[in-house]
Amino acid sequence: MAPSGSRSIKRSCQTVLYWIPVIFITIIVAWSYYAYVVQLCIESIDNIGEKIVYLLAYHVAFILFTWAYWQTIFTKPMNPMKEFHLSYSDKELLEREDRGESQQEILRRLAKDLPIYTRTMSGAIRFCDRCQLVKPDRCHHCSVCDKCILKMDHHCPWVNNCVGFSNYKFFMLFLAYSLLYCLFITATDLQYFIKFWIDGLPDSQAKFHIMFLFFAASMFSVSLASLFVYHCWLVCKNRSTLEAFRAPPFRHGADKNGFSLGLML
Ligand SMILES: [Zn+2]
Ligand SMILES: [Zn+2]
Repeated sequence: MAPSGSRSIKRSCQTVLYWIPVIFITIIVAWSYYAYVVQLCIESIDNIGEKIVYLLAYHVAFILFTWAYWQTIFTKPMNPMKEFHLSYSDKELLEREDRGESQQEILRRLAKDLPIYTRTMSGAIRFCDRCQLVKPDRCHHCSVCDKCILKMDHHCPWVNNCVGFSNYKFFMLFLAYSLLYCLFITATDLQYFIKFWIDGLPDSQAKFHIMFLFFAASMFSVSLASLFVYHCWLVCKNRSTLEAFRAPPFRHGADKNGFSLGLML
């Protein structure tokens, strides 16, 4: 088989694999909808007032959560503008030079008029070989997307997308609303979960759904809460996840206000 054919098959397999976590989450959410709305509210709750209040509040949380999830998945990450890309002649010039100081000289000339303040750990201009561009500040190359992403935070397998400049707000909302969704289910399902342990519910199918719904919602609540608190901390410190692990070195040395991790040159 031709190498390009096997490469495209490999790419198609990777695309399918990357969507598996999103499909998994979608199935869990679809099941939680059925378990909460049909098995808990319609089948198990007798009080009409309670039923209506729970159903209304649940649908508000559900719509907010699915909207934020959708936006995080389908908002395209932003790539560097054309000013940062090398022109054809610059590419040729760079290729002709040996790696090292002479290449850096060319890159320094190209970056002279660009608003770039950060450098590599060795003090060189940040350059992406794959995309052939001078990297803007806070931009990183994602190996999964195979692109440079502006203010890249991390590549999230659960949304099969890079979280960065264009969708970080949606990602934060997704964490907040999914936490709200899980906490609401945990809180309202708790009394029926306890009732099941003490008295036993008459219908065994409802029993299974109510019990499993409580376990799933409470476990997701714990993991989502820790992730949400961590990202709130990052926002307060004006750091991305990548920068929290390795603070960027600046052209004029460390910026103690923005990044005071003591890791800079
Ligand atoms: Zn790149
Ligand atoms: Zn990515």
